[in-house]
Amino acid sequence: MTEPAPAPLEPLDEDWERALAVVAHPDDMEYGAAAAVAHWTSQGKTVVYAMITSGEAGIDSMDPAQCRPVREAEQIRSAALVGVDTVEFLGHPDGVLEYGLPLRRDIARLVRRHRPDIVITSNFRDTYGGTFPNQADHIAAGRATLDAVRDAGNRWVFPELTAEGHQPWNGVRQLWAAGSPEGRHAVDTTDFFDTGVASLKAHQAYLAGLGGSMADAEGFLESMARATGSRLGVRFAASFEVLPLHL
Ligand SMILES: [Zn+2]
Repeated sequence: MTEPAPAPLEPLDEDWERALAVVAHPDDMEYGAAAAVAHWTSQGKTVVYAMITSGEAGIDSMDPAQCRPVREAEQIRSAALVGVDTVEFLGHPDGVLEYGLPLRRDIARLVRRHRPDIVITSNFRDTYGGTFPNQADHIAAGRATLDAVRDAGNRWVFPELTAEGHQPWNGVRQLWAAGSPEGRHAVDTTDFFDTGVASLKAHQAYLAGLGGSMADAEGFLESMARATGSRLGVRFAASFEVLPLHL
């Protein structure tokens, strides 16, 4: 018996100017979405990165206090390769990230400060599509980002943000979750595939500490981008689940 072909993907909306990417860890954008970011910044769009944690619990052989500055520096270099000049670190704890009001407030503040058209996060579904379970921080980060985008637009939620001078921002049109198993949209990353690989390889210390297929930056990204590309009718692509924020 042959499996049914995966459903074709629709092109993403590219009629926007500013995006804010909010993810749990340094390297989350680089496992698939960074090539898309390189494509957008090459069009003159602005993309800002915000890391909720500094990934300081991500290298077994390195104490978190020692690891934090290493991973932050790697993320800043990685972002620069795809045309992202602003990388913020929110300083929440890696590995034990909690969904809750403090996290929502911090992300809502970011959204009000950067006033993006699009907010990007990573997959926050329970799995990646098969049986392999998602990681707890990713789920908390994505859920909190979705809720914080709404909080950012409501003057009466987190009124302390207005007192700090951050006016409500209702301009986010869509939230995009990269690599979600519910992804129905994609962007052609063929011309930026190599840039995406370079941006993942910039996480040198992190990759050196990893085993398994995810340590092979090029091979891992290629198999994912090729499978997605075949559903968009191009060589390589990155997929996103689109959650509309306005009816
Ligand atoms: Zn992660």
